[in-house]
Amino acid sequence: MSAAAALDELAAEISVCVKCPLHSSRTKAVPGEGPGSASVMVVGEGPGRNEDEQGRPFVGAAGQNLDRLLSEAGLSRAEVFITNTVKCRPPENRRPVRGELDSCHPYLRRQIEAISPMFVVLLGDTALRELFPALSLGRAHGAPIRRGATVFFPTYHPASVIYNPALKEILREDFLKLGSLVRNPAEH
Ligand code: URA
Repeated sequence: MSAAAALDELAAEISVCVKCPLHSSRTKAVPGEGPGSASVMVVGEGPGRNEDEQGRPFVGAAGQNLDRLLSEAGLSRAEVFITNTVKCRPPENRRPVRGELDSCHPYLRRQIEAISPMFVVLLGDTALRELFPALSLGRAHGAPIRRGATVFFPTYHPASVIYNPALKEILREDFLKLGSLVRNPAEH
């Protein structure tokens, strides 16, 4: 099966998923979007209000920050696959809890398997800990982690600068580093 077909199949499953209580308050599930051939995948925390209404990831204020950061890294939104650790909006935008993350985890794993990207950008603590539970963002951000053929790249969440402007420059520097990694993967 092609990556695109596997992603479509997953999206169809996710849209009717009832594995955790988040399904009961969602408007639309947000499986993620982007090409199956993407060499860069981006993982956020979970859908917010705009994402829940539209069924698309990162379409609100954090999404605008993400688009700007991607373009500073020389990447366009259209060429990356964007998803989240949980595919349905947690009420009041709270952090997803363990049971919700565990229920949704196989979807993220299967998306990574289907796309087999060269880079997986982990936005924020929730995404980082979902794949690397022992790491913390303060130490891990901006440093690539190689696992087999895939490089994981932790950085801060684009929404974090809305609450903490001091992170703006750090996030920008991390994305510039990501851009240079993507352009010259053999050098790292
Ligand atoms: N924040 C996220 O983590 N994901 C989204 O899709 C939107 C905002």
